[in-house]
Amino acid sequence: MTRFDDRFVRALPGDAEPANFVRQVRGAAYSRVTPTPVTQPRLLAWVPRVAELLGLPEAPTDEWVRVLGGNHTLEGMAPYAACYGGHQFGNWAGQLGDGRAITLGELIAPDQSRWELQLKGPGPTPYSRRADGRAVLRSSLRELVCSEAMFHLGVPTTRALALVATGDDVVRDLLYDGNARPEPGAITTRVAPSFLRFGSYELPASRGDVALLKALVDFTLTTHFPGLGAPSADSYLRFFAEVSRRTASLMMEWQRVGFVHGVMNTDNMSILGLTIDYGPYGWLEGFDPSWTPNTTDLPGRRYAFGNQPSVAQWNLLSLANALLPLVEDQQALEAVLDGYSEVAAGAQLAMMRKKLGLLEHPERERDDRELMRDLYRVLVSTETDMTLFFRGLAAVTPALRDAADDALVKPLAEAFYAPHEVEGGVLAGFGAWLRRWLARAGADGRPHEVRAAQMNAVNPLYVPRNYLAQTVISATEQGELSMLQQWLEVLARPYDEQPGMERWAARRPEWARHQPGSSMLSCSS
Ligand code: AMP
Ligand code: MG
Repeated sequence: MTRFDDRFVRALPGDAEPANFVRQVRGAAYSRVTPTPVTQPRLLAWVPRVAELLGLPEAPTDEWVRVLGGNHTLEGMAPYAACYGGHQFGNWAGQLGDGRAITLGELIAPDQSRWELQLKGPGPTPYSRRADGRAVLRSSLRELVCSEAMFHLGVPTTRALALVATGDDVVRDLLYDGNARPEPGAITTRVAPSFLRFGSYELPASRGDVALLKALVDFTLTTHFPGLGAPSADSYLRFFAEVSRRTASLMMEWQRVGFVHGVMNTDNMSILGLTIDYGPYGWLEGFDPSWTPNTTDLPGRRYAFGNQPSVAQWNLLSLANALLPLVEDQQALEAVLDGYSEVAAGAQLAMMRKKLGLLEHPERERDDRELMRDLYRVLVSTETDMTLFFRGLAAVTPALRDAADDALVKPLAEAFYAPHEVEGGVLAGFGAWLRRWLARAGADGRPHEVRAAQMNAVNPLYVPRNYLAQTVISATEQGELSMLQQWLEVLARPYDEQPGMERWAARRPEWARHQPGSSMLSCSS
């Protein structure tokens, strides 16, 4: 029998009010609330690898489908919605909380590891404000696919166990333009050691509730960061430093694979350094640091691809402010924050060297940074697919070094959205850069095959492109489930060439360029 034991609920104060209505919740880390049953829970996807991790069967029982649809709970589950706040688009938003998420319980896996099982879209909670607590199929599928893809890409992330259709429609206005329409609803089951966010600590701090703040931080330290020592002003500071380090490293991972989160509000920043809350995220296709998939963010482009590392630092500053009453040493917190820039710059160089197949070399730091800067320049000189460019790079071999520019760029042809543009100045720019790169890469004396294998282990071929998600969503909405299955299988081996699966690696076709859902997404999910 599956065992549950929620340490979060056991250790922290809960809301005394048992009824489920929207309210401000003070002095509590969560409110007990059960999912609202749905008309007809029907399994759309089950992730066997996650099921195995949790000690669940390879295929779910009917009872589990009812549980994951919110129609049934198992013995030992103590469902709740967490209370947290957050800064949204740079402004303090006050209490937010799990408005459409309910944690069913903490599952103890066969290997004794512990995992929170959380439903996203299970109906209203005390934190639902004016919304319905539901999620549409399209955004639920996007969350399931992307979190699993991220895991297999090697990027820290929450995971997903299942996708269940509810049989109920949900009304949404996709582009917030007055065209609301009913869409099929669904529930994703998310899995993580914890869903605690920066905003979990910011809310009690903003209310001057130091007792709750301390209880939360102490719980986090002892449960999730046991290596940092018993709670004390010193370990609180080490905690902040560790969260900063993990966050910086997560930002580099996002930059490495071309992921744009889209809504890096502090309520969407995991305290464990995981990618969390997949909403209007996107994958960089044409390389463009100013790109954001989130139409809600278009005016300021706050959360654009290239801004993510600095926005994370801003978010860490908000977290530092929240922790100040416990650390009581502003200078020490500031020192960690200042260190972030340095850590991030170093991590970026290391990450780009790996993508380019260059070995660490202290004396080449300046040259390598220049090589990177110039690469960004050529990449934006014509619309160039980030994933296909880096993947193709390993096929540009030293034998091509003395070849003409057009032969040199040939292995990269798939990456260009406007091949006719790649002539004249643009082509010469790529040619010159590639020759410099070959010279630098070759200087380490390693055989090209060795370098190519190392590059292809960090430059994925298959990422969950936005237009592919749109195609799979349409198929799934029409009851065709095998496409989603196939895509999940392909995404489980993102670095391996998979013959016959080329369609899952293809660059965005022209029809998808301006299509809502493929290149534009909003928070309407
Ligand atoms: P997000 O931008 O998706 O992270 O959501 C921000 C806040 O709005 C969180 O507190 C969510 O729980 C809440 N929220 C978003 N969508 C809904 C919804 N459909 N029903 C209830 N709450 C929601
Ligand atoms: Mg959120």
